[in-house]
Parts: sequence; structure tokens; C-alpha cells
Amino acid sequence: MAKKQFKAESKRLLEMMINSIYSHKEIFLRELISNASDAIDKIYYKALTDDSLHFDKDNYYIKVIADKENRILKILDTGIGMTKEELENNLGTIAKSGSLSFKNENELKDGYDIIGQFGVGFYSAFMVADVVTVISKALGSDEAYKWESTGTDGYTIEPYEKDLVGTEVILKIKENTEDENYDEYLEEYRLKAIIKKYSDFIRYPIKMDVTKTKPKEGSEKEYEDYQEEQVINSMVPIWRKNKNELTPEDYENFYREKHYGFDKPLTHIHISADGAVRYNAILFIPEKIPFDYYTKEYEKGLELYSNGVLIMSKCSDLLPDYYSFVKGMVDSEDLSLNISREILQHDRQLKLIAKNIKNKITSHLQSLLKDDRDNYETFYKSFGRQLKYGVYSDFGSHKDVLQDLLMFYSSKEKKMVTLDEYVSRMPEDQKYIYYASGETVEKIEKLPQIELVEEKGYEILYFTEDIDEFAIKMLMKYKEKEFKSVSSGDLGIEAEENQNKTEEEEKENKDLFEQMKKILADKVNDVRISKRLKTHPVCFATDGEITIEMEKVLSQMPG
Ligand code: ADP
Ligand code: MG
Repeated sequence: MAKKQFKAESKRLLEMMINSIYSHKEIFLRELISNASDAIDKIYYKALTDDSLHFDKDNYYIKVIADKENRILKILDTGIGMTKEELENNLGTIAKSGSLSFKNENELKDGYDIIGQFGVGFYSAFMVADVVTVISKALGSDEAYKWESTGTDGYTIEPYEKDLVGTEVILKIKENTEDENYDEYLEEYRLKAIIKKYSDFIRYPIKMDVTKTKPKEGSEKEYEDYQEEQVINSMVPIWRKNKNELTPEDYENFYREKHYGFDKPLTHIHISADGAVRYNAILFIPEKIPFDYYTKEYEKGLELYSNGVLIMSKCSDLLPDYYSFVKGMVDSEDLSLNISREILQHDRQLKLIAKNIKNKITSHLQSLLKDDRDNYETFYKSFGRQLKYGVYSDFGSHKDVLQDLLMFYSSKEKKMVTLDEYVSRMPEDQKYIYYASGETVEKIEKLPQIELVEEKGYEILYFTEDIDEFAIKMLMKYKEKEFKSVSSGDLGIEAEENQNKTEEEEKENKDLFEQMKKILADKVNDVRISKRLKTHPVCFATDGEITIEMEKVLSQMPG
């Protein structure tokens, strides 16, 4: 039987596509600039194999021109251009990508990958324009053509005059409606911002005529506007540069330019991975806690680029929660994107990159702790709590890694120490890692419970944050040593002089204790002789796993 072809209502298809695949209208500019950049790349590739072609980088650029009065936005490039056939095939056929064919026909060099692949980006222009006109002259051709369409009712092609090889895409910007503002796509500042946001690392200059003011000639008080051509994008992505060429200031500037924070980065990690996963990344640990960090509003995530074009501003899958303070970006050529050029949700590459990044952050923190203690402590002051949350909420295996990054205030050193430092100087007869909980170091120092442990010469870790004890309970042990609260019933030490006295005293004072228990009936479970008190007459103790400090936290929790 003869096969019948599907019929598609292409008008409807186009309408649907234009209005449904992109979540932000502003990306039309990203798409048109990406096409322009691809077109210049194609000349570059042709020149590699064609001796008669000479690629002089200075001659190639993209220009964005806004004409507010006539509601015209023009994006022109000096790229390879399109012949009449190419205009028909590439712009007249939805989902036909001339760029993808080009990629398949030419062997492309790493790092100069062409962006286009789906053959739909161009149509995003219809999200903001009523009419789209494309004037193009192909490389090696004497003729130029004009392609024009209002989107849904087809297109026209006719010969046209154009001197330079390349393409002009001319958008007649829509009038504002009640819920949509289109004027903004004619505003200089807005266009600049969109270019910066999505296309900052396009390899060719993206130029715009920018309005400036200068004093009027012969007058000191009057000013006049004038236009100056400016390159808007930074072009060379800093993450593609060699680490040795970059100074700390370069990284700092990048941090500010990208608005990762208002502070300075405390430290940065520059990764150029070239193994099973290929990606470049620049990550920062901020110096200060972002103001909303410990709130629900804070969103973790890294910027995700595919080939220098921004795909996602906050890709949360790239960071585990316990490293949510990390800022920065990742660029990879290996990502599988969907047709609106968003990242696929369960991308295998993305998972590999995320894992890789996690390990890099861990080892960076480890070496910071080892080689740059002061900076590590600054970091820990801000984000140590997040690491402890990480330990506490561990159902996997990351606590093994995180436990070595933890620090607590030590009774012995009077400063922050790691668990490893604590354990490595434990006397042989010491069974447990001791800790005492309280609101502040000063308050803990006054606890009667710490006396006996201190007298034995054992070090005590001071837990001053709510999360501390919860995290430690999750760890249970560190290097085979259990954690022990100084207020727990059995400390594993007994004050020698108290050894045999206890039972006697217990009997002697039975009545007194009974009386005390009666009076404190709703406040305590039991009153008994303590073996650990030295200079204080009395202290609180708990029997179970939950200490008094934990009880306080739990009782404050909603629920
Ligand atoms: P994609 O970029 O994914 O291929 P587009 O819909 O953005 O899809 O573009 C379709 C095709 O039109 C491109 O593959 C390219 O062949 C052609 N094209 C679009 N814009 C230009 C341009 N400025 N210069 C040359 N060719 C272009
Ligand atoms: Mg495209």
C-alpha cells in the first residue's frame, strides 16, 4: 500500500511553536545573535580549507540597531549569508537547520562549535515582531535577496540590493498590549542588558550605537547627545583562558560583573575538565553570607552555558544543598538541549558534571583548610552551618566527606579545631570525644558538668549552634570514637575519690532526695548523687540520647 504523508497545518504549527516553546520573549535576541555568530563561524571554517578565502577577524561583527520612532530593530552580521535557495530552505522550513547540516558536512574544531541545531530559533523573532524581513547576500554570490513574512501567512522572496556579504534581520516590533510591553526591545539599556545576559561570550563583537552626552560646543552649561559605536559583549570567556594568564583581580572583576555578590569572593575554583566530561567552570565561595542565605527565598544554582551562550541562570542540579553557597558558572559543549535550548532534566552529562564539581569543591575546601587556615575559618564562620546541615540531612555518604570539614571551638586550644585534630591528640585512656552544648562559649565555660572532664585533662568541644548536636548524632562516631555529651549519665570517667562513697551517701540522703523530687515533681524525673561534680553543688543530667540543649531546640520547632 502506498504510504500517505502526514499533513501539517504549518501556520498553526508555527503559531503554536512561537508561543509555547520559549518561556521568555527576550531570548529572541539571543537566538538571532547566535545565528549571526554561526554565520560568521561558517566563513571561518570555509577559510580553513579554502586558500582563496582569507579570514581576518577584524572584518567580522554583529550589529544591533534600534530605531524607536519606526519601531524597527535590526540585527546585521557580516557572516556567510544565504542564497535564494537557502532562504527558502532554512527560513521557509520549520525545523530545518542549515547549521546542523553544515556541522555534519564539516569537521569542526573543538571550542568553535556552531550553536544552531534545531532550526526553530529564528522563528522566535515572531514573538516580538509583526513582520520579519531578512536581507541576505551569500558568500560568492552577486545577488542579494529579501525574504519577508508576517509569521503565519507564508513568506515572499524577491531580489534586492545589498553591497556587503552577510545578513540583516529586520524586525517590526509589535505595539504594546495590555499585558505585554514590547517597547522595551527598542530601548538601548534593555537591549544592552539582554546582550550582556545571554550573548556576552559570543566570539565576535556585538556592536551598538550608544547614546552619550557631551558639553555643547562653546557652552559650559548645555549638553548634547551624540552616538558612539560600542562593543557590548566581552567576547572572550574568561573560563576559556589559561589559569596562568589570569590574576586574582580578573576573577574578582568577573564575580562583580556577573553579580554573583556585592562582596569579594573569598576564593575561586577554575576547572577545565577534559576527560569523560568536558566542561569549563569558574566557581566562587563568597566572603560574606548572602543576605537571604539562611532563608527559604535563597535559590542555589550555577549559571549554565552551552558553548558560551547562556542556557540557564540558576541550574540547581549542579550543586548539592550542602554546597549551596557556591556561586559561578559552567560551560559545556556536551549538553543535550531541548528545542527551546533549555537543558534536559535528566541529562547524563549534567549529572556527571555535577558530581565532578562536587568533588572539586570538596578538595578545594580540604586544601584551604590545610594550607590557608585563616581563610578557611572565615569561610567556616559563614557557611559552616550549611556543612553541618549537610551532615545532619545525610542519607547517603557525603557525611564521610563533610565530617573532615567540620570545626568546633575547643576548650583546650581556645580556638576552632577539626575532629581530626581532636582525635589525634586524645590521651590513650580517653574513650570518647567530649562535647558541651550551650548558647555561648562563656556560658559553656560555667557549666558544672565540664569540670570533671576538664580535670581529667580531656579536651571538650563547645557546641554553640542548634544544629551541632543533631549533626554529631548523625555522625555517631569519628574515627571509631563515639561522641559524648558532658551532661550525659555515663561519662566513662569517674572521680576516683568518689568511688565508694556514692552508695552510702545515696542511703544517707534518701529522705532529702525524696523531698526534693516531690518539690520538683513536674521539672525533673529523678534526683540522685552525682559522681562528676567538683566545685558545684548540683547539675542537670540527661539519661537518653536527647540532651537538654537538643530538647530546647526541639521544643522551639513548630509542629
Ligand atoms: P538553527 O540555528 O537551530 O539552525 P534557526 O531557526 O535559528 O535554527 O535558523 C535556521 C537556519 O537559518 C540556520 O540553520 C541557518 O542555516 C539559517 N540562518 C539563520 N540566520 C542566519 C544568518 N544570520 N546568516 C546565515 N544563515 C542564517
Ligand atoms: Mg539558531
